[in-house]
Amino acid sequence: MNQLQDCRLVQWPDDQAAHDTAINENPANAGTASGGRRKRSLIDYSKPWANGRTLTIAFIDAPDPERKQRIISAASRWLPYINLTFDFVEGVQGDIRIATKNNNSSMLGTDALLVHPDWPTMNLGVTPDHPDFDVIVTHEFGHALGAMHEHLHPQAKIPWDKPKVYAFYQNREMNPLTRKQVDLNLFKTFSTPVAIHTDYDRRSIMHHPVSNELTLGDWENPINRKISKKDKKMMRLMYPKQPRQTR
Ligand SMILES: [Zn+2]
Repeated sequence: MNQLQDCRLVQWPDDQAAHDTAINENPANAGTASGGRRKRSLIDYSKPWANGRTLTIAFIDAPDPERKQRIISAASRWLPYINLTFDFVEGVQGDIRIATKNNNSSMLGTDALLVHPDWPTMNLGVTPDHPDFDVIVTHEFGHALGAMHEHLHPQAKIPWDKPKVYAFYQNREMNPLTRKQVDLNLFKTFSTPVAIHTDYDRRSIMHHPVSNELTLGDWENPINRKISKKDKKMMRLMYPKQPRQTR
């Protein structure tokens, strides 16, 4: 089974609380359209962390050292493209809290701040013997940094065979999905400011693989194992490196 297809990106259900938390962490999240009508700002805000800060990342269920090291390496693949520092720690306190028991999932960016401090903000159930362990970990950290699912980009226009997609996910034995969950995971596009400033990219590591059997005509997408050019551009937009000081 392709576990990347089952990644769950979790957004805090109370949009007002998520909005306030995002702006409190990083005033730039308000975007350019925030003045005026409240409703509009709720649509357009985004959830990256404050630029330049250190993110404390805790392993809350003490995975074995090898697994931990591989998680750290895969997460660190983002570091060249962002202006954040990762501080990996033992114990239960962290901005991002990783558990390794349940299905792969992550909170989106600053939504992690709303999760009860005793609970994980990211689950990495994938085990190191999985051939795409590193890809999946990098992908989940993309969400934790604020990246949405690329197949939900407003320009994606994937020719889904919707009745087939619903039937496939509802009827499978492992982790079946309701119609509503399918809508949310596969069909509901987003419109964050960063999305508007970057084009849709089929090669993004944040894109789910798409099977030809679930689309109309001949359309499929393989699993993307590398951070794409667009992924790098998006991260640089969210976390620009400060220009070097000149005298
Ligand atoms: Zn995902």
